[in-house]
Amino acid sequence: MPQDPQNSKNGDPTQEQLDRRLLKGNIDTMRSWAEIDLAALERNLNLIRSALPQPMKYVSVVKADAYGHGILPTAARLMQSGVDLFAVANIKEAAEIREMASGWPILVLGPLLEEEDSALLEYDLIATLSSASELPRFAALAQKRKQKIKIHLKIDSGMGRLGAWWEEAGELIAQTLATQEIELCGLLTHFADPSDLAFTDLQRSRFQKIHDALPAVTRENLMVHADNSSSLLNLQKDSIFNAVRIGLLQFGVSPQKESLFSQLQVEPVLSFHSKLAIIKKLPAQTTLSYGRQHQLQRSTNIGIISAGYGDAIPLHCGNRADALIRGNRYPIVGRVTMDQTLVDLTDAPDNLEVGETVTLIGKQGDQEILLTKLAEDADTIPWELLCSITKRVPRVYTTNRE
Ligand SMILES: *Cc1c(COP(=O)(O)O)cnc(C)c1O
Repeated sequence: MPQDPQNSKNGDPTQEQLDRRLLKGNIDTMRSWAEIDLAALERNLNLIRSALPQPMKYVSVVKADAYGHGILPTAARLMQSGVDLFAVANIKEAAEIREMASGWPILVLGPLLEEEDSALLEYDLIATLSSASELPRFAALAQKRKQKIKIHLKIDSGMGRLGAWWEEAGELIAQTLATQEIELCGLLTHFADPSDLAFTDLQRSRFQKIHDALPAVTRENLMVHADNSSSLLNLQKDSIFNAVRIGLLQFGVSPQKESLFSQLQVEPVLSFHSKLAIIKKLPAQTTLSYGRQHQLQRSTNIGIISAGYGDAIPLHCGNRADALIRGNRYPIVGRVTMDQTLVDLTDAPDNLEVGETVTLIGKQGDQEILLTKLAEDADTIPWELLCSITKRVPRVYTTNRE
């Protein structure tokens, strides 16, 4: 982030200062913060939608607090922009969306614990049915409440996780169709390794066998979905699939170079910033931080950033990743600690000051640190990095439309 320009001549705040105060919260008092650009989220959604074979429904995956972006503002913007269905991991996440707005269909992707079953009706949710043990539970509940329970039935076509194993799914499907109280609204599977086209195609064909064996009348209004951000490469036109489940990509993070969407210019929605808290000169030969993993070759200015893995800076990016200050890159040196991270300011201008904004994810001037690059430097994946932005980090939202 660029530095605040000085107040304009007559002492009024500049537009940028106003934007920050009104729209982004008071960054001046924050040590670290994540900026969430909701307009970029909306642009990404529109871009992805327009690139999909038509007609195709859009299931927006907003589990784990909308991938760390904050479920309420994120879901609110997605509602305004128009998605067909929200998908979350569990009842608690579903309830948060439901309490905000009634009417939006919400699919719970994860299995329910028996004591959670009644929440399906209380919050008007769609369950993912994975096993024969869930069906009688749902049926009994529906009978007792005299209400139907909506489900999407999940097929395990090779992920080895949730869903009925494809070779044995016939019986569960027959039971489901025979249960009056259960309304089958969708059929889904999940890919284990989208970068492996042959295996993904095998999963698609196993899944298609199950789909094609359904009675025609059942197939008619079914939502059929498998593709996530990484797997769209071999999503064919005119396939049985009529919906996609997108998480990461809508937040402007491209998981895979070869994906259909790698050509799409999605924009990062989240950036992460902190501040330079201390600048100090240390003598040559000094070792830095826990484990003494970096030694200074000469007397050097070290900057201490007011954030660590207790905020969002991954432990393993020490001695690997960079930080941006005033549009320049500085290497992170030594091990990242819970609350502080060190940068080598050898090449920094003399007038660099304590309090300056440091960007760990995002842009400053013409320099940019992509979330995928930081994840790579830290030996992790973008999904995990987003999930490790902690509660200590305030999320500040920009909401302006074009
Ligand atoms: C998380 C999740 C997705 C979304 O995956 P992305 O790679 O983030 O797009 C889709 N489907 C299921 C079942 C998931 O758990």
